[in-house]
Amino acid sequence: MLTSSAHYLKRCWAPIDLDSLTFNLEQIKKQLPSHTEVMAVVKADAYGHGDKMIAKTLIENGVDFLAVSNIEEAIGLREGDLEGNPLTTSRGAAPLILVLGYTPEAHAKMLYENNICQTVYSLEYAHRLNDICARLGIKLTVHIKIDTGMNRLGIPHRDEIFAADAVAEIIALPFLDVAGIFTHLSSADSPDNSDLAYTRIQIKRFRHLKAMTSKMGIDIPLWHIQNSAGIAFCEEQQEEAAWEYARAGIVLYGLPPGEAVLPFTVKPVMSIKTVVSHIKELEGGQPVSYGRRYVSNGNTMVATLPIGYADGYFRILSGKAEVIIKGQRALVIGNICMDQLMVDVTGISGISIGEEVTVVGKEGEEEITFEELAHKANTIPYELICAICKRVPRVYIKGGIQIAATARPDNIMA
Ligand SMILES: *Cc1c(COP(=O)(O)O)cnc(C)c1O
Repeated sequence: MLTSSAHYLKRCWAPIDLDSLTFNLEQIKKQLPSHTEVMAVVKADAYGHGDKMIAKTLIENGVDFLAVSNIEEAIGLREGDLEGNPLTTSRGAAPLILVLGYTPEAHAKMLYENNICQTVYSLEYAHRLNDICARLGIKLTVHIKIDTGMNRLGIPHRDEIFAADAVAEIIALPFLDVAGIFTHLSSADSPDNSDLAYTRIQIKRFRHLKAMTSKMGIDIPLWHIQNSAGIAFCEEQQEEAAWEYARAGIVLYGLPPGEAVLPFTVKPVMSIKTVVSHIKELEGGQPVSYGRRYVSNGNTMVATLPIGYADGYFRILSGKAEVIIKGQRALVIGNICMDQLMVDVTGISGISIGEEVTVVGKEGEEEITFEELAHKANTIPYELICAICKRVPRVYIKGGIQIAATARPDNIMA
């Protein structure tokens, strides 16, 4: 259940620092030319942060365009904030919402009625969508996606004449209103020379398409190409300043898009907390957790924490990850269970039941980041933040105060 209650069960929860979010937005804006606006990518429940509060906060700070992966996410945002109040920009309008991925054309009416912009990524799809809109008597707003080298979605670029002809064909469809056009960079997060060269090719293809379509008298108002990595690492685009929007995802949430160090500062928005539910001393030779994969080596203090893989804390982190208790690191021992895990707290004194534990985030001098865990889980931070499950309340913090949580209503938890 979603409410704006500030009460939640202190078992395992995810503080979401909205001040860090607005800080990151400001940093991103500074990277961009003044006329390039931020399109906030809030797909996958805002990368696990909770799309309603994230969208609301970004809109309050000047964002007017949101991108999601599918129509369900878009409609969820049209239903409003956690209280059900419609999201509105400072100009009093509803934010624009772009669906980046596939929507079966049977949902054209729902797209139209909810004022949602759909990505058109093939000629065939454009024609099908146009046909159904003709039958419904509606004109649907779309952005065209060009595939300049990611080979996922998009009209293949091939050469600018082929791509420009395809664009012209879509522009001519009477029941589609082409408001924008974009492409997606596949490798802009990498400092590797061949990746840099590939990014330049992608940008060049898109730029040439722009020149070609304008020569043909085609006017498409909104052009966008950059993802987080493009914002961070593609200087030549910024000099060119040719794009109306940049699609910022992971950097908004305070994490880098790849291994390379960002040229600007961002602050992680999400942290993960839990508590100590049980503590005991084991003699040497005692196995811990399923499968007895860990056996104590001498007297060992073991704390049990109520967080597990059903909260999104990957089982592959067993025996590798650490948490912070009383400002000190403690290793996860034995297999991580569905709802619980054990840590070695030998040498950390004064731990009591209910004591707060930092699973991800800063505590005193120590900090555990999603990058550190991603490295240990052999994945990327994107996957870890998206995996934090629904049952983990997101607790929103602004000015150091908890202002809302995705939890049960006050009357239950107060
Ligand atoms: C997810 C996505 C983005 C945002 O990517 P980040 O790396 O998180 O900035 C931008 N554009 C498209 C098409 C996407 O699918």
